[in-house]
Amino acid sequence: MSRTVYVNGDYMPESDAKISIFDRGFLMADGVYEVTSVLGGKLIDFDGHAKRLERSLTELDMASPISIEDLLAVHRELVTRNEVVDGLVYLQITRGAPADRDFAFPDPNETPSTIVLFTQNKPGLAQSPAAQKGMKVISIEDIRWGRRDIKTVQLLYPSMGKMMAKKAGADDAWMIQDGHVTEGTSNNAYIVKGNKIITRPTSNEILHGITRAAVLRFAQEAQMEVEERLFTIDEAKEADEAFITSASTFVMPVVEIDGVALGDGSPGRVAPRLREIYLEESMKRAVSSRFTFSAKAF
Ligand code: PLP
Repeated sequence: MSRTVYVNGDYMPESDAKISIFDRGFLMADGVYEVTSVLGGKLIDFDGHAKRLERSLTELDMASPISIEDLLAVHRELVTRNEVVDGLVYLQITRGAPADRDFAFPDPNETPSTIVLFTQNKPGLAQSPAAQKGMKVISIEDIRWGRRDIKTVQLLYPSMGKMMAKKAGADDAWMIQDGHVTEGTSNNAYIVKGNKIITRPTSNEILHGITRAAVLRFAQEAQMEVEERLFTIDEAKEADEAFITSASTFVMPVVEIDGVALGDGSPGRVAPRLREIYLEESMKRAVSSRFTFSAKAF
């Protein structure tokens, strides 16, 4: 089935979607993005993603071409038109396409931002077999820029990190800066010691994960102990458990780091329980994609 996508105010078949070669997203990676998951046709934590999008745009002094209300309407419309039951909505906003290539930002009054949204169907997204098995990670140096809190489309190093992991027979890479784990290539990183969940505090050095914020809140509500502090990769290898969070993987156990098995090499107690709580609680708060619902449907 050909997807219906959204480009600068219009819905169209994906084969008709076109962006200028002068678009700054293409030439300069001058753009931001969000990924919102869809479970059972409902949008998970749309508000969180919309808020972070606004922050990314503000930090880069980039104009938004759309209001949050309209953005929600586009998300719902695309999910409905593409009959997405489980999957993702990808959204990208760039600083637009000026008449020529130039390092200086174009005048936003003359060059409107570009906005693109499309859906990805992922049947059974929440029933991933990887969640039962757990994943293996390797560690790599974090050589990304210093504003990782802005969700930009500069994803070359994370892509290279995933390829390094693949080559090493692992599923993903955790990045290390000054001896401490920053985050995964496309997720936030956690270790568990005893009953304590340990994760790096938010700063410019990591993306402020929307799933991270929800998981930490749910963990505290469930009387689980959370400590936000730096941890080393050696500490992680000696942890009882480890896991990652992201909008597309929710909570995913990590069972091996640099070839070292954690515990007995299978998912422990805490990560699978957090996954359960996260899925249950987020579904309760999810926004229905059906156009006929004008307000949040729980
Ligand atoms: N960290 C990085 C570098 C990411 O790219 C992502 C998601 O793409 C995350 C963390 C997790 O963020 P979220 O939970 O909002 O998906």
